Amino acid sequence: MKLIKAIRGMNDVLAEDAKIKASIENVCQQVFTSFYFQKIETPIVEKTELFARSIGADTDIVSKEMYTFTDRNGDSLTLRPEGTACCVRAGIEHGLFYNQQQRLWYSGPMFRHERPQKGRYRQFYQIGAESYGWATPDIDAELIAMSNAIWQALGLTGIELQINSLGSTQARQHYKEALVAFLEPLRDQLDNDSKRRLESNPLRILDSKVPETQKLLLDAPNLSDYLDDESVQEFENLQAYLVAQEINFVINPRLVRGLDYYNKTVFEWVYPNLGAQATVCAGGRYDGLVEQLGGKATPAVGFAMGVERLIELIKDQNKQLSQNVPDIYFISVGQTSRLTALKIAQNLRQVGKIVQLHCGEGSLKNQIKRADKSGATVALILGEDEINNEQIIIKPLLSRNEQQSIAQSELLTSLDTLLKV
Ligand code: ATP
Ligand code: MG
Repeated sequence: MKLIKAIRGMNDVLAEDAKIKASIENVCQQVFTSFYFQKIETPIVEKTELFARSIGADTDIVSKEMYTFTDRNGDSLTLRPEGTACCVRAGIEHGLFYNQQQRLWYSGPMFRHERPQKGRYRQFYQIGAESYGWATPDIDAELIAMSNAIWQALGLTGIELQINSLGSTQARQHYKEALVAFLEPLRDQLDNDSKRRLESNPLRILDSKVPETQKLLLDAPNLSDYLDDESVQEFENLQAYLVAQEINFVINPRLVRGLDYYNKTVFEWVYPNLGAQATVCAGGRYDGLVEQLGGKATPAVGFAMGVERLIELIKDQNKQLSQNVPDIYFISVGQTSRLTALKIAQNLRQVGKIVQLHCGEGSLKNQIKRADKSGATVALILGEDEINNEQIIIKPLLSRNEQQSIAQSELLTSLDTLLKV
């Protein structure tokens, strides 16, 4: 019989990665909470129009990557390719932007029909944060500081912060004209996507992943020379805020980001060891989006982290985000001891111990073998003698210490000493 496999580019997350992922989520939740960001959850499926109107018709996402289908009512729906448009939609719908400022965060799977490769999947997991109602770069700096705090809490190093300013809409228009004037004579040497974009969306060319195109762009005019005074000032303020918090950064004048809605600040956190898919977190300001989607004009900034890439990064740095092993392997021989074991295990779990209870048949010898394999720090053993005397045997598995029989009433105290390493 032909085996049914997962869809290409959509992965099962098995024990080791699931553990790291949970640690990332925990750390993010703690850091977000410490900055007083509130969690928001939105549906995985939205009207196709939401993404078409926000992300931009000529972006990779909208032009070729969306999972779009018609539902039974004949509506065109799309599996969300990113979280920002969804947050904005929800914010408008629930009046969150009226006379209020918001600091929000979200997490969940996103879907893009990309060519699957390391760090690039068709279902991937993002954790993101968005702020609404602040036009000043102190909030841009806060978001960057928050991502920085996440790397610190995870014990990660070597992630480089790149920043740039895209300026106002008008400044970008002037730059666009200069870029087209520069690229027009080189048209024949451009890749096909970039050729098309020369008419439809020239800025996107800067974001091209084609090496030959990137080479041509080395001599292209710089966006920074076209910035409006306000954007220049705000970009300088942003840098001052980062310096004050001792957050290192480099200015990357080519950084434009792959979505249309950004203006002013854009940033990416890059970990070069990951190779071609090195950006682990990306974001920027999108002051026009709320109004573009029918809300009242509201300045906004946000970022999203790619969790699969972060997991790779953590493995690259060999971070043991608490090992995936139980504290205790619980051995019991005979039915009466098994019943007592269930109760004791329950008590141990209630005080936070990780207990792997031996299930199924098994002689004492066989169970001890399993315990050794489990990686647990200690084994607990209950047999008939122990039940009769209200004793229990503690057998250290990782150290060479002798096993000892103690009163069941002293179990917790003894375990606390043994498990405290
Ligand atoms: P890239 O340039 O790598 O395609 P992007 O600009 O499309 O990234 P965003 O839409 O800004 O990415 O998403 C933010 C982050 O989400 C990225 O920096 C990356 O870490 C992660 N990400 C984006 N697309 C994928 C994907 N297909 N698979 C895994 N992670 C992804
Ligand atoms: Mg992309």
